[in-house]
Amino acid sequence: MLMVSIGWMPQDGTNPQLTRIRIQEYGKDSVVMTFRADRTITQWQKPSLEGGIVVVRFPGVARSSAIAIDSSVTQLSSSVIRGILVERIRPKFVPVAAAARRDGPRDIVVVIRAAGTTPRPPDEKKSNDAWALDVIVLDPGHGGVDVGAISVNGAYEKNITLAIARLVRDKLKKAMPKTKVMLTRDSDTFIELYRRGQIANESGGKLFISIHCNSMPNKPHPANGCETYILRPGRNDDATRVAARENASVRFEQSQDRYAALSEDQLIVATMAQRSFVRLSEELARHIQKEVSASTGLKNRGVNQAGFFVLVGASMPNVLFETAFLSNSADAKLIESPSGQESVAQALVKAIQRYARTYSTLLDQ
Ligand SMILES: [Zn+2]
Repeated sequence: MLMVSIGWMPQDGTNPQLTRIRIQEYGKDSVVMTFRADRTITQWQKPSLEGGIVVVRFPGVARSSAIAIDSSVTQLSSSVIRGILVERIRPKFVPVAAAARRDGPRDIVVVIRAAGTTPRPPDEKKSNDAWALDVIVLDPGHGGVDVGAISVNGAYEKNITLAIARLVRDKLKKAMPKTKVMLTRDSDTFIELYRRGQIANESGGKLFISIHCNSMPNKPHPANGCETYILRPGRNDDATRVAARENASVRFEQSQDRYAALSEDQLIVATMAQRSFVRLSEELARHIQKEVSASTGLKNRGVNQAGFFVLVGASMPNVLFETAFLSNSADAKLIESPSGQESVAQALVKAIQRYARTYSTLLDQ
């Protein structure tokens, strides 16, 4: 069983307060806890293992009376024992190592690894290479005969997605010179949705980002902002609408039979096949939303989920990013302008770098 003891100071009215703890599982052998405070955390200690209990101490930090615990871990029970919050996470999880790092001024991330669940292969180097974030695949939505959505000004989604993907590639090459960046298309050509995931798999991709623009059926329309999707059955009408619009690209394909069977049930099976990296996809999606909305001022519509054909075949963490609404005049103006595309691309690079840091931390423990 994993038990985590979290130590903090009494409130004195001046110290920062922990407001949120986020607990996530990564695969079978890692649990990641993110501690967020209302202000900069200046002091935190390296977590220690004391009698099988992971101890995390925050000197100078108090606990907010309204601390929120946000957890994807199913077997979780929290209790406050003599002022110490003890989390019991997963009965078979025996912690062997814990490390902490800062992620921005207010977040401290603690990664805890378990023993015995999935032992590392003896060839450590090789195993790391297999996971290293060495190839990133960017997928500019639509292309050729499939123009995608058309903006209030008459601009085509296919051209905007390609322009942004190229900018991201060029910036990534500078920001992450060791990483190879691939585009599923680098010209105005039509590529089948299934083929895009295949291209990513064949090039050994470790991350797949499909770039799109949102749109409402009636223009102009007040709906605005950016949103990032992960592959899971649609949770609401809005998400289902977006997936239906993006999936409609298959009408340009020769053989549509391959998609016909992707009913809700089969989608659940497809998403189960992606279970091992859904957490990482979510992680990237959160970073994208945060960075893009901060740098462009686009409304943050959050991370959503739906069944996108283009994501089903990509065997790696993957997201579909809807940059902005072409049916909204202000959004369209921004996303059609070179400066708007530049800031979206810059934000995507930042999000990928943030993701890469989390990813390498998980591998290095
Ligand atoms: Zn699209």
